Amino acid sequence: MDCILLGSGGMMPMPYRLLTTLVVRLEGQSYFFDAGEGCQINLKKAKLGIKSLRVLAVSHLHGDHCLGVPGLLMMRAQVPDPPLLTILGPPGIERFVSQVREILGFFINYPIRFIEWNESSGEMAYEDDLVRILWGPLKHTTFCLGYRLEEHPRPGKFKPEVAKALGIPSGPFWGKLQRGEAVVLDSGKTISSQQVVGPSRPGRHICYAVDTRPSKFLYRLCRDADAAFLDGMFSPEDRTEAEEKGHMTVDEAARIAARAGTRRAVLVHISPRYGEEDMENLNAAAKGRFPSAEMGMDLGVYPISFREE
Ligand SMILES: [Zn+2]
Ligand SMILES: [Zn+2]
Repeated sequence: MDCILLGSGGMMPMPYRLLTTLVVRLEGQSYFFDAGEGCQINLKKAKLGIKSLRVLAVSHLHGDHCLGVPGLLMMRAQVPDPPLLTILGPPGIERFVSQVREILGFFINYPIRFIEWNESSGEMAYEDDLVRILWGPLKHTTFCLGYRLEEHPRPGKFKPEVAKALGIPSGPFWGKLQRGEAVVLDSGKTISSQQVVGPSRPGRHICYAVDTRPSKFLYRLCRDADAAFLDGMFSPEDRTEAEEKGHMTVDEAARIAARAGTRRAVLVHISPRYGEEDMENLNAAAKGRFPSAEMGMDLGVYPISFREE
């Protein structure tokens, strides 16, 4: 699993930093979180295909998070026969996309399924053969969703030495046991899968939460995640502004990631006021709270390994 940041900025695209857009790549599929204006440029630079885009999860309807959606949809219509696209988002996301489509009259050659958050939505937003995606409201100046992508658990490890000791011949019996089935040996003895396969192992979990103040839900969203991509818009000195505008300072974001037990935190939605020369200070402020925190970078690739077993 790789996480790729197509952009790491907030508010407006800058010559040195595009708007925050995260792509999670898993087994040839892409899951997008937000689509900033111009994200197609870095999508091309990163050489990521668009056909494999399976889910586009939008956090909220502020322009810096959703103005890239129409362009992305048009770009995807340039390839032959793209499969179904699922769009997750806040109330109004379907109307936004439909109205832009209607007014611009652009052609789309694939089905789109919308899943809009509403009062009765549970925490589970979406599930497929690879992952499930959880969501819930954050604390911003408008309704904003945080997401958590969870890869399905993997089957436990097969123990060949135990199988041999139990007298199970290698071959079809081993396959069945690995798939969780029980087998009956020629001797009449029944062997259950649990006897030769270890417990299932957790998949990798990614949290994406931008445009928010710290909150209990944010903490839960980050809990034990393998990587958290979090709002780190301001430097610690600009705390009052962060509070007023519904954002976090880098030290606030790093602290919540550390307390929630995440393995690493990448801080994004960086204010356009900070240039390359400010990154060292921002990084230091984040690392002061959590050594595994860092400022995000456009086109940064973050490989997510399995936890040590
Ligand atoms: Zn924003
Ligand atoms: Zn916003």
